Parts: sequence; structure tokens; C-alpha cells
Amino acid sequence: MSDSDHLLERYPQVMMNVFGTPKLALVRGEGALVWDEQGKEYLDLLAGIAVNSLGHAHPAIIAAVTEQLSTLGHISNFFTSGPQVALAERLIDLAGRPGRVFFSNSGTEANEAAFKLTRRTGRTHVVAMEGSFHGRTMGALALTSKAAYREPFEPLPGQVTFVPFGDLDALNAAVNDQTAAVVMEPIQGEAGVNLPPTGYSQAVREITAERGALLWFDEVQTGIGRCGQWFACDAEADVITLAKGLGGGIPIGATLAFGAAADLLQPGNHGTTFGGNPVACAAALAVIDTIAGDGLLEQVGARGAQLQAGLVDPRVGEIRGAGLLIGLTLTEPRAAECVAAAQELGFIINACGPDRLRLAPPLVLSETQADHFLQAWPSILDAAFSMGDQS
Ligand SMILES: *Cc1c(COP(=O)(O)O)cnc(C)c1O
Repeated sequence: MSDSDHLLERYPQVMMNVFGTPKLALVRGEGALVWDEQGKEYLDLLAGIAVNSLGHAHPAIIAAVTEQLSTLGHISNFFTSGPQVALAERLIDLAGRPGRVFFSNSGTEANEAAFKLTRRTGRTHVVAMEGSFHGRTMGALALTSKAAYREPFEPLPGQVTFVPFGDLDALNAAVNDQTAAVVMEPIQGEAGVNLPPTGYSQAVREITAERGALLWFDEVQTGIGRCGQWFACDAEADVITLAKGLGGGIPIGATLAFGAAADLLQPGNHGTTFGGNPVACAAALAVIDTIAGDGLLEQVGARGAQLQAGLVDPRVGEIRGAGLLIGLTLTEPRAAECVAAAQELGFIINACGPDRLRLAPPLVLSETQADHFLQAWPSILDAAFSMGDQS
């Protein structure tokens, strides 16, 4: 028996039952395509949850990681390396104003670092948004609104006030002179791609500036090209957190802080063994270079518009998003059925609510590939809406 035989049967014997049994065991990927144990091909419109920005097995990442790993793989933060400093410089350059970076390995870790940074203001109150997702470690979880994720682990770090996303009056009432920070996703990803009203971020910026609170954008899902720009936030941040797409599949998180916020964490305040390791930083540099060099930001805008236009159907209500982060609401709670029907037809899509679907394909998705999915879309809906009709 080869290692890849019957993976879905072996999985539940040894894997903690946290994710349920996975839908597929995948063995290979190339660009926006992946193949399963049986050799069936799928167009991957989820990209490891907005992670594989350059798709699978991209030559630029393979080359960067291979070269770095065969030169210097890991050194700890007692030492530094070329890729680490170069990546920090690159991120600060993309942000367009002076700041500093702390590297980690995931989105939740990027947010833990930011959360700890906010405590160094001397204030402890944080305002977060209803519908938010910031990660699963205790600190990030305290800022995540979904009760089902939070409640089994309470008590969590306290003094967090949740306000409805997009409601300026509620925010205005919640932020006071004891508020360390307001944390928000520019577009809420896990909640099903929720966009705030136009001008919301700028108004949040004004309120936070007025009361001396930091403004922290969680761009773990939206950042590094996903929404057609390097950063999706459209107001001046004190803190930006990144992860998912940054490493193109190699784990890396980054906490960026600007102005006075960049000096809040002082020696001994925080740390990491793996964070900022040369291999992960080399991968992220390759991702950024490729997005810039191949004109992917423009391409993301065009692909997103193509997908949004082609998804229109009587069984689809609202379609929303930016670039290649797209959410839609179905007229009936058939999201799980859509995922199953899509998989059957060779497409990977994601349900993020009973009636909500999310697409977050690789930024390299071609026009032909997007069209291939859109051609199949009515059949996916047909199948999904006729499943279990007796119920
Ligand atoms: C996925 C996500 C996180 C958590 O990232 P992990 O790498 O899973 O820890 C945090 N914030 C946002 C906005 C995310 O989408």
C-alpha cells in the first residue's frame, strides 16, 4: 500500500477530530489545478483558503525556497538573514510609510503580536467587529465574534467590545479614552465576504485618532494582492497584520506597525523561534516579486469582475467582493450542496454559511479557467437545488 492509499480512511484513526473528515485527499497541484488520490482533476477556487496566491507548485516559489533551504534554512532570532531584512523592507515600502515588522508563522500569531502591542499603550480595552474572525489562539479568539468558537474556551482575555460592522454610531459610542485599539478586517472574509459602507474605514480612522486609540487592520485574508491591491484597507493604519497569501503556501505571518506604534514592543516583550526564518521570507519575497513582475494586481481586478458578472443567476442573491475575494448569498440555504455539486463536477469552492459561498482562487487564475467554472456554474446550481428536494 502506498502512502497515499485510502487516506480518507486512515485520517480519522490518527487525526484529532477538529475539522471533520476532509472532503478529499489531494496528491498534486499545478497552477490553479489540483488532483486527488484517484487522479481526478479539480479547478481550485479556494487556494488553501486564500493562501496559494501563485497557485500550486509555482516555479518562482520552488526556486526561492530551494535555493534558500540549500543555503541557510533556519537560524533563530539571535541572528538575521538577507531574506528577513529584505522582506521587512519590501513590506514597509509597499505600505508607503515608515514602520517596522514582526514576523511569525500564521494569521493568529500575527494578531497575537498585534494584540500584545496594543497592551503596551497602557490601555486594555479593544473594540472589535461583529462577524470578525481573527484566529484561534486565546488572544485572537477574544477578538473573534463567533460565539461557537469562543464559548468553549472562556474566560478569554477581557475588555473587548463588539460593535456591528459598518455601524459608525455604535463605534462612536464604544471607543473611549481607555480604548487601546479598534481592530477590523477591511473586508470580513470568514463571515462570507462582508464589505463595510463606503467611507467607513476613514471614519473609524477619525474616531480612533480623536481618542488616541490605535487602528489595526487585520489583512490576513485581504492583503498582498487578494483584493486587487497590496493592501485592501483604505485608511491610514497604525497596525496591519498579514499571513495567508503572503507566503504563497509557506507559513508566514507579519505584524506591521507604523509611526509611534512601531516602537511599542520593546526588547523582551515578544518573541518567536520560527518567525522570520529565511526560507519563509524568501518564499514571501518570491510571491511579492511575481505579483509585481507579472502584473497580477491588474489581472486580479479583471478576473474578479469576470467572475462576479458570470455568477449572476436567479438562485443567487447578493454577489460581493473585491478582486479575487468573492462572496455570494444563495436564495436558499444550499451552500453545502453547492460545494458537493461543484466537487463532483471538478471544482473546489467554499461554503462559509448555510446560504453563503466564497471564492478565493489563486491570483494566477486564467480567463479560460474562470470561464470554465462559469460555464459549469448553472449545472452546479441545478444539482445543488435539486438535492434532497423532499426535505
Ligand atoms: C484566516 C484568518 C486569520 C487566522 O489565520 P491562521 O493562519 O489560520 O491563524 C486571522 N484573520 C483573518 C482575517 C483570517 O482570514
